[in-house]
Amino acid sequence: MAKVGEEKLSAQQLIALEEKYGAHNYHPLDVVITRASGVWVWDVEGNRYLDFLAAYSAVNQGHCHPKIVEALKAQAERVTLTSRAFRNDQLGPLCQQLSELTGFAKFLPMNSGAEAVETAIKAARKWGYTVKGVPRDQAEIIAFEGNFHGRTTTIVGFSTEEQYREGFGPFTPGFRVVPYGDLEAVASAINQNTVAVLVEPIQGEGGIIVPPAGYLKGLRELTQKHGVLLVVDEIQSGLGRTGKLFAYEHEGIRPDIVIIGKALGGGCVPISGILADDEVMGVFRPGDHGSTFGGNPLACAVARVALKVLVEEGMIENSARLGDYFLERLRAIASPHVKEVRGKGLWIGVELVPEAGGARRFCESLQKEGLLCKETHVNTIRFAPPLVITRDELDWALERIAKVLTS
Ligand SMILES: *Cc1c(COP(=O)(O)O)cnc(C)c1O
Repeated sequence: MAKVGEEKLSAQQLIALEEKYGAHNYHPLDVVITRASGVWVWDVEGNRYLDFLAAYSAVNQGHCHPKIVEALKAQAERVTLTSRAFRNDQLGPLCQQLSELTGFAKFLPMNSGAEAVETAIKAARKWGYTVKGVPRDQAEIIAFEGNFHGRTTTIVGFSTEEQYREGFGPFTPGFRVVPYGDLEAVASAINQNTVAVLVEPIQGEGGIIVPPAGYLKGLRELTQKHGVLLVVDEIQSGLGRTGKLFAYEHEGIRPDIVIIGKALGGGCVPISGILADDEVMGVFRPGDHGSTFGGNPLACAVARVALKVLVEEGMIENSARLGDYFLERLRAIASPHVKEVRGKGLWIGVELVPEAGGARRFCESLQKEGLLCKETHVNTIRFAPPLVITRDELDWALERIAKVLTS
């Protein structure tokens, strides 16, 4: 057997291996990537593509950012895993850095986004019982139609996407789902047992759905009035994607719990977690919750540099500036296939008219033009390049997008 990473197999052979021996829980574009740098990726045949998905915003800092890779290598040679049975010298500094950056008192580290959402659900429920005084096992959490918060059984239980639920029940009770963007609906769903409202500031997997202006502010006022926690899932919208560190900043609010993940690991390692102040984080006592890999020194060392370069190298400002430009240029493309172009920062959805035949075929055409992106739902193309993209690279992409959308 060849050394891992040195197999010389053709794209067709590699695809066949994956199809034969791997579970079929995804339907990827047939491009087999073997290396990447910044906004570019190369397939095994040597073709170069501009990555317009950035691993669902987990690679905001660009592929293989030299400073992040340097931190990864250096930490890999020192210590990678201690478990939380012992302490390590990377977790404390990461928590401090996050606190100073975001203004929240404490951080609780996990690994995947879904785990961090589960952590927020547990925090909100326990806060409900121990601080708010909700009767045992009666806590309710309000979530939204079109939500995406991950794939665990509890989380898919309140998804409104039939395929995400079908065959996986029975589900966890305690969730109420209301229409997204409608404050009245939330107001009438709140009762004395409501402990939290769990919301994406912009629905990503739902199709880059931007709620009406003032919506998050309205949610903040409603939740404050009724003694309910506002839990914001910033796993995809956060860390610069929308042109601010967090998308909720666009409305000048401060949530009670912020869920982060994806780009926190700089595209190198899974690391996620929740941010909150002491009133909420204080509900966790030793033994209440945990994770073997959560807070491991390798992920913490990487996250420290991932956050540092995001801020110091101006990626958030770049997202705001080029995002506005990109949105404007996309809207100027006269295409019979386009129904709506929407988004914030470098996070843009192009919704096609139903007669266009679905977004997938446009993604396949863009792939032939050297641009990798992915449809979300049937009719929306999602554009989310790494935040290190330059204006020239964006123009290069726009030329190809215009060609595909108008042919
Ligand atoms: C990706 C995502 C998740 C789940 O993260 P995983 O790391 O895939 O478990 C949760 N919420 C939002 C908004 C996401 O985009």
